Amino acid sequence: MIVAGRDRTVSSLGTVAIALLLIVAVLVPAAGAAAAAEENGRVETEELPAPDGAAEESAPRSSPASKPVVVLDPGHGGGDPGETGAAGTREEDVVLDIALRTAELLADGFEVILTRREDVALTHEQRANEANYRDADVFVSIHLGASSAVSANGVGVFVSSGTMTTPAGRTIASRTGQNGQTENRRLAEQVASSIHASTASTVRGIHTAPCRVLEGLTMPAVLVEAGFVTNPVEEELLAGESYRQTRAEGLAEGIRAFLASDR
Ligand SMILES: [Zn+2]
Repeated sequence: MIVAGRDRTVSSLGTVAIALLLIVAVLVPAAGAAAAAEENGRVETEELPAPDGAAEESAPRSSPASKPVVVLDPGHGGGDPGETGAAGTREEDVVLDIALRTAELLADGFEVILTRREDVALTHEQRANEANYRDADVFVSIHLGASSAVSANGVGVFVSSGTMTTPAGRTIASRTGQNGQTENRRLAEQVASSIHASTASTVRGIHTAPCRVLEGLTMPAVLVEAGFVTNPVEEELLAGESYRQTRAEGLAEGIRAFLASDR
């Protein structure tokens, strides 16, 4: 305000006092053209912009496309710690952290639902029902491996040996012709491949096994064992953030690739 007052004093001309009512952007070009267009009282009308309202009215109003729904299921929790390593690392804590990291990585393009975000107990049915109810596009249950052979290590991916019998399961079956197992295996291969690409650890392959949490699901689903907590070296790594993060990155990329090729 002080600077503006000084400018007005220096200018000092009577005509400029009127021009103070105009903004600088209008004043400068108008003054420059004044001599040539002196008699034309309509000059200023040519500088009027188009009404802002017109552009706003023409903005598209289509509703945003719904995002694919991804359900991540951290295993165990709520009094069920899962497997515990010799150093005390608990499966329930590690898999929850990996799931939360995976969810964050997928948040920009997907609706990500976690069956649990804290240390609570859930039945297999509750986990599956959540995914079915939300009509998820993919379900990934996250666990750790355990073995009496302490040398066992690496990542395993499992598909259920059960068959889908729900109406939506039959929809998948009609698309693949194999009770959804083709889709399950394709998801498993994407996840295994992406985890292998993002981590230095062994990928132990894709296995078909009874997995209660995967039975009754109506969408492509896998169970991932993200490492062996019974292997002392891997347990120490699983207790650290960077190892969990690389597994989350592999999982997220696998899910992303699967859904991209599914559409
Ligand atoms: Zn487990």
